[in-house]
Amino acid sequence: METATLLEPERRIRLVSDYDVVVAGGGTAGVVAAVAARRNGARVLLLERGGFLGGHIASQLLEHRAGWFDAGGNRIVGGLADELVNLLVGNGASPGHIRDDTGYTRFRLPVNHEEFKSLVTRWIADSGVDFLLFSPVCAAAMEGSGLAAVIVENKSGRLAYRAKAFVDCTGDADVAHAVGCEMLSVGPGAATQPVSLLFKLGGVDHSRMIDYVEEHPEDFKMGVAPQALRGRAFINLWGFGSLLNRAYSEGVLSFERNELHHSGNCATGEAIINLTRYAADATEAQEMARAEVALRRQVLEALAFFRKYVPGCEKSFLAATAACVGVRESRRIAGVYELRDEDVRTGRQFDDAVATGGFPIDSHDPRGPSMDGTEQVRKAYQIPFRSLVPLARDGLIVAGRCISASRRALASARISGTCMAMGHAAGTAAALAAKSGKSLRSLDIQSLQATLRAQGAVI
Ligand SMILES: Cc1cc2nc3c(=O)[nH]c(=O)nc-3n(C[C@H](O)[C@H](O)[C@H](O)COP(=O)(O)OP(=O)(O)OC[C@H]3O[C@@H](n4cnc5c(N)ncnc54)[C@H](O)[C@@H]3O)c2cc1C
Repeated sequence: METATLLEPERRIRLVSDYDVVVAGGGTAGVVAAVAARRNGARVLLLERGGFLGGHIASQLLEHRAGWFDAGGNRIVGGLADELVNLLVGNGASPGHIRDDTGYTRFRLPVNHEEFKSLVTRWIADSGVDFLLFSPVCAAAMEGSGLAAVIVENKSGRLAYRAKAFVDCTGDADVAHAVGCEMLSVGPGAATQPVSLLFKLGGVDHSRMIDYVEEHPEDFKMGVAPQALRGRAFINLWGFGSLLNRAYSEGVLSFERNELHHSGNCATGEAIINLTRYAADATEAQEMARAEVALRRQVLEALAFFRKYVPGCEKSFLAATAACVGVRESRRIAGVYELRDEDVRTGRQFDDAVATGGFPIDSHDPRGPSMDGTEQVRKAYQIPFRSLVPLARDGLIVAGRCISASRRALASARISGTCMAMGHAAGTAAALAAKSGKSLRSLDIQSLQATLRAQGAVI
């Protein structure tokens, strides 16, 4: 049957030309990109489709941020990403980089999500970045081979924003997609990493939970002795497989899982739980609606699981759920260079490096009960400028999880510290391009690197 169509009427819309740089997506990479562009002298507009800034960290209640250190404990992210961490720590919104009890990484960074949302908004406003909320970029206009304007539809109507350079930090490469940039394919028969909905439990007795860990250390991946969890303000656990398997066989859980991540705040009796999963293409609206239904069902089952099976959680309650379905992987641009598996595995260095990564390759199985690949990255690797630059389109640079990277490479580079470092690089590059009148692809890389280093970036 032929699909019914409608010809959308042409209309004339207002064109705003007040900005040098427009950043699309006010998330993990985008907030840093916007501040970076502003600090480098550009007039900046940040466009966010949602109702608050901060992206996945805030919307997904992330257990903790990571990516600031390599496997040896060496610092690999600095600059504006660090400035944001210092702001959080200085305002009591985070304890800073603390031990990862599972031994998966050296350090992790818990934050209070509500305080993070408010502080990141203040950071953006104080930096002199203009921003709009509820303002998704839904189309774009080209001039020759260059992006000339992005089009936004919000309560004020439909508006076009012209700029000298654009940064796509939408996670899904929406701007690059809108101007017809080539995308990397997931691969025949493969599926992207699953989407999830994190949730927060209240009423957790962590002391009783640690008793269980001491009695059943075989049920956990531990980087420290179970006794070392005692007296800590924050603990994190990776395991509970035997309890999950029992709950599945007894019909309390309708989905099979071999592990969950528990990130506990012992003082408040709260814990962020990473357990739910659903295989979906995050760029398909109907699939995301099905994901929402499936994941919220899993959250309710998980709550019943905790109350019935997990020592210390008998009186727990659902304190919060993520604001929306969380996406690990979707569109990635085909860039001038595709960061490859072996680049990440071998700690490759690049002449045009603009950011550094070192988080393990961390791939969740969309269909199975566990991970479909975790690999330690022994030596930090660099991310080249060319992986942020789309093929055959000028005026646009991307940062965050939509860069040009193989699936395994992205499974490491998608971590929030690395995304922030990329945001720093992309925002700075956009400002330098706007200032010099040069195209992004012909930017002087050495002067970009010198600027980033002077601002504390680790490259
Ligand atoms: C379930 C889950 C658990 C995770 N756990 C961790 C963890 O524990 N630690 C960690 O460090 N990382 C974790 N990650 C990974 C990390 O959160 C993300 O990969 C990273 O935040 C991606 O950053 P980003 O800037 O690319 O995207 P985001 O942070 O998602 O930002 C994208 C922003 O763009 C906005 N946007 C989208 N489309 C448009 C549009 N068309 N116009 C305007 N705005 C738009 C979005 O609303 C969002 O604010 C996790 C991810 C998931 C999904």
